[in-house]
Amino acid sequence: MTTPLVEMDGDEMTRILWKMIKDELLLPYIDLKTEYYDLGLEYRNETNDQVTIDSAEATKKHGVAVKCATITPNAARMTEYNLKEMWKSPNGTIRAALDGTVFRAPILIKGIVPYVNNWSKPITIARHAYGDVYKNVEIKVPGAGKAELVFIGADGTEIRETIHEFKGSGILQGIHNTDESITSFAKACFNYALDTKQDLWFATKDTISKKYDHNFKDIFQGIYDAQYKDKFERAGIEYFYTLIDDAVARVIRSEGGFIWACKNYDGDVMSDMVATAYGDLSMMTSVLVSPSGVYEYEAAHGTVQRHYYKYLKGEETSTNSIATIFAWTGALRKRGELDGIRELQEFADKLEKACIKTVEDGKMTKSLALISTCENPVILNSLEFIRAIRETYDSL
Ligand code: NAP
Ligand code: MG
Repeated sequence: MTTPLVEMDGDEMTRILWKMIKDELLLPYIDLKTEYYDLGLEYRNETNDQVTIDSAEATKKHGVAVKCATITPNAARMTEYNLKEMWKSPNGTIRAALDGTVFRAPILIKGIVPYVNNWSKPITIARHAYGDVYKNVEIKVPGAGKAELVFIGADGTEIRETIHEFKGSGILQGIHNTDESITSFAKACFNYALDTKQDLWFATKDTISKKYDHNFKDIFQGIYDAQYKDKFERAGIEYFYTLIDDAVARVIRSEGGFIWACKNYDGDVMSDMVATAYGDLSMMTSVLVSPSGVYEYEAAHGTVQRHYYKYLKGEETSTNSIATIFAWTGALRKRGELDGIRELQEFADKLEKACIKTVEDGKMTKSLALISTCENPVILNSLEFIRAIRETYDSL
């Protein structure tokens, strides 16, 4: 390796897996170069969360990061870790710093059959992560009265629209988005489609929302026509816009193998739907891509807290490390691509193959065995599973 990966360590069970993966699957095989940031909650607290900001800055500088799952503190964590403050979600901080879009895709394995049986390829969900209902302002209307939408320009000019003349009590909501954020989202989607050579689908409800949703559609189309049309044609891929309800029907009938760009709320709902339909949360990968082409790879699942408490009590755990291994392979492959190191890309490909073959050969962790169609799966504990992958790797 020439450029280091930005390594973001994390919390609980995934922190345990992190070390096992490095010791068993990475360090014996590659000359691993990383710039290490400890995003474990204790150290975030000690540094007043500065370490998270530093890790995001390092990612901008080096271009590729790999992240372990981290705790987003809540009231219970405040006491558990004796926190100075309820620190923000590291993922939120990193996403804001990189102005990034998150792409999530399932890892497909024979024997884990999606509920939608014509889905033979992964569907990647790209979720816009700014605005709409997630930054809303709401009013509970107490009784009769008039609601207006008012914009006051920096120069004092006003735009007014009547929302509703209430005859009795009701509810009101104000939402917004910015052209800048939608533009970043669109560019990240177009770049990722080119990067992974997959078609890009985008859908909103522009027939009903003639200005708000239409603006999303227009920005996507404008950027596509001006900057990506030729590149897409050369790559043999397609950009396709449709209405959200039409998209849902087409997605179910499809065989997969494309990127589905979603507005914030649609992405929230559809990513859980797609993840569940493919079988298992522990098999979802996630990558944050900035419009400038910076990448941060991670597993889509959390720190697997319940397993960690068992581990602390000395009980056996059977935690699936595949999505975390794929975070490493994704990052190593991208690093290899950017630095022109073919061996690193080949290592990533081979390690992924070893993960898949291990499960297809019937060796897996407990949650996979529960949904696998494999006849007599051998259920392994967390470390045994990683060692089984190593054995498969050595046999390839
Ligand atoms: P979780 O860690 O994703 O785990 C939820 C449940 O899903 C687990 O209890 C386990 O079910 C199953 N599961 C998830 N990953 C698995 C794996 N690799 N192998 C086997 N089973 C797996 O979510 P959570 O328990 O709601 O959250 C725990 C912590 O993670 C929270 O503090 C949260 O803030 C954090 N979190 C972080 C991220 C991130 O960093 N990207 C994302 C989500 C959540 P069973 O217990 O039934 O076996
Ligand atoms: Mg959700």
